[in-house]
Amino acid sequence: RGHVFTDQHEHVQGPLEAEAVARNIRAAQQEPFEVGGRPVSVSASVGITICPADGTDPVALLNNADIAMYRAKEQGRNTAKFSTPTMHEEILSYHRLETDLKEAVGRGQFELLYQPQLRLADQRVDAVEALLRWQHPERGRLSPGEFITVAEESGHIIPVGLWVIEEVCRQLKRWEGAGVPVPRVAINVSAVQFRQRGFHDVVRGVLESHAVDPELIELELTEHSLMEDTQGTRECLRALKNIGVRLAIDDFGAGYSCLAYLRQFPLDVLKIDRSFVSDLETSLDAQAICSAILSIAHRLSLDAVAEGIESEKQLAFLTRNDCLYGQGFYFSEPVAADRIAALMVQSGAQATRRRRVTSRRLAAKAG
Ligand code: C2E
Ligand code: MG
Ligand code: MG
Repeated sequence: RGHVFTDQHEHVQGPLEAEAVARNIRAAQQEPFEVGGRPVSVSASVGITICPADGTDPVALLNNADIAMYRAKEQGRNTAKFSTPTMHEEILSYHRLETDLKEAVGRGQFELLYQPQLRLADQRVDAVEALLRWQHPERGRLSPGEFITVAEESGHIIPVGLWVIEEVCRQLKRWEGAGVPVPRVAINVSAVQFRQRGFHDVVRGVLESHAVDPELIELELTEHSLMEDTQGTRECLRALKNIGVRLAIDDFGAGYSCLAYLRQFPLDVLKIDRSFVSDLETSLDAQAICSAILSIAHRLSLDAVAEGIESEKQLAFLTRNDCLYGQGFYFSEPVAADRIAALMVQSGAQATRRRRVTSRRLAAKAG
């Protein structure tokens, strides 16, 4: 990562020419070079800021260029991105969020909502997905889309992610203590968290200290986490599997889908990305992709979960194609933990007789 300063007056007349310089830099970077006798080429993501249009303070300009570079990376790498006037405000708000995040766990500002996953054959709830919310003191309740990237880039995702796993364990114990049917809980794991050294030991430690049955925990990994088929990835997945947790791959089909990892890695669940489900009614392609993913899941003995079901027709298609589980606003939005007990009982989840009585009362209370 480096900076190229171009003197506007001598070489570059404006944004168009800056873009041409960026293109040249990228082309030069892509020239293969040799490392240990093997040809290697790298791609470059370029952030561009223009003085004085974007400011005159050197530190601010470097910041602009940095943020623009991150945008370029987000948009698939090997591209160039300009800093824009609105970016300045974004940079400030980015740094404010980063500072606030540092304190958020300690100040108890996070909470988890839970979204039920239904077995499509009998519409029974036996699992839920934990979804993170941040009660920001000034900005109100924030969804992960508004802070996860900042958390990942700043490294704060590590303590936040740990809090999530611990809170799920505490919640499982609360449900158990209340005598209500206890669902399996799916937890989202960021790639940054997954690649942290000894992640599996962290998971094992938390489950042990809360005496939680590992079968009640499903870890949702992204395709991004599994993209690099390294020794480390394999070992971590194997170690997690040995603990006894289930492993799911989230948003399947939306990223760099690589079918090889479905065979190589010890996965249990494949979650079909919401984008395919939402297009089911209007697109034959989406139908073809969904049924192809479902048949891959069946053949490889993976449980399939369709995310983002919003309509009867989507549900009918997925049921017809033997999708095992479904999740989406059609059934329920993510809700607070105390509503889950009632939902599970309504759906006829298995529980002991004594437990049933307690949870009916809960259901009646929840109305
Ligand atoms: P995801 O894991 O794919 O979660 C599903 C997202 O889709 C959730 O958004 C959920 O509220 C939303 N959703 C569920 N059903 C429907 C539907 O029928 N229609 C529509 N339009 N949306 C639906 P949410 O809670 O905003 O989370 C967004 C993403 O943030 C998650 O996507 C996940 O990648 C990430 N995330 C959430 N919680 C955590 C967490 O604790 N740790 C980490 N690392 N990431 C998290
Ligand atoms: Mg998920
Ligand atoms: Mg998903």
